Amino acid sequence: MLNIASLTELLAQPQKIVITTHHKPDGDAMGSSLGLYNYLVQLGHDVKVITPTDYPQYLSWMPGNDEVIIYTDNLKQSAAFIAGADIIFCLDFNALGRINEMGDLVGKSSAVKVLIDHHLEPEDFADYCYWDIKACATAQLVYRLIVKELKHKELVNKDVASCLYAGIMTDSASFSLPNTTSEVHRVTAELMDAGAVNWQIYDLVYNNSPENRLRFLGLCLSERLEVLYEYNTAIIAVTKQDLYKYSILTGETEGIVNYALSIAGIRLAAFIVERHDKVKLSLRSKGDIPVNDICKKYFNGGGHRNASGGTSTKSLEQVVNQFKLILPEYKKLLIQ
Ligand code: 5GP
Ligand code: MN
Repeated sequence: MLNIASLTELLAQPQKIVITTHHKPDGDAMGSSLGLYNYLVQLGHDVKVITPTDYPQYLSWMPGNDEVIIYTDNLKQSAAFIAGADIIFCLDFNALGRINEMGDLVGKSSAVKVLIDHHLEPEDFADYCYWDIKACATAQLVYRLIVKELKHKELVNKDVASCLYAGIMTDSASFSLPNTTSEVHRVTAELMDAGAVNWQIYDLVYNNSPENRLRFLGLCLSERLEVLYEYNTAIIAVTKQDLYKYSILTGETEGIVNYALSIAGIRLAAFIVERHDKVKLSLRSKGDIPVNDICKKYFNGGGHRNASGGTSTKSLEQVVNQFKLILPEYKKLLIQ
């Protein structure tokens, strides 16, 4: 196991570095990865950010985005970079399965592996873990690593700051979740002092929907929403045909689940979507309702207590029914 002193020493010499993050990267995955990228290149390292899959357009404004390698589009090149890396940073995920086929390549690589993450119970694959489940975002931990451990606050320039700000803003649901501590606000204030323009970043991320996504949201809310008041639960279930009809791309369903959770009295919300080979669930909750337990136990997934995801190979209808049948188990927590 490495410690911070040996990591500091390692980073004192130019290294070949790969940064990777979970599949279907979200704002924190890309923000933490590109924030770290923009820091490491200033130290003279040769850095590649490799994502297991593509990611939504509203994240493509981030500095360094043009250099990102998407694994599924560049299999050979990605495999060569992973095999030849001296250090691999694994950001915003806790298990190699979260990076799809890249998990095997990273597992086999002789590189030093550094995990930076805020999910529960990381798998034991890294040589050094910078890990805190209380952090609201991996981007917050990247900032802490750079400033507190590596003592390079002066290298947090506008590019680093903008990416990290976006990661924190998105994973904290715009500073609305309980893990938005005073430290989070202090960090974001420092990121603004370093050049991150808060309102511009908000605009780039949230006021950037294609028209079809908004119309699809309309369909979800008017036709696909089911509210089960006896369990304070709301479900939005959408079919493959819905996605096709509205030309919805990966990532464009992000955040829709929060509308279901915004109904007065609702404490558990599920967005259940039929993809080409499986059904994907996004669960959100309030208070003590452990959606990570539900996802782990029933849907081959996990995440945080109030925000988790999972999958199933059953049909959409079966998954919706299965989800409803699980609710009595959590009734005490749901009807508090
Ligand atoms: P989302 O609903 O946005 O896909 O995911 C919410 C949270 O759950 C994220 O923090 C994500 O990392 C986690 N998550 C989503 N899908 C999975 C999964 O299949 N397995 C695990 N372990 N975590 C997941
Ligand atoms: Mn995250």
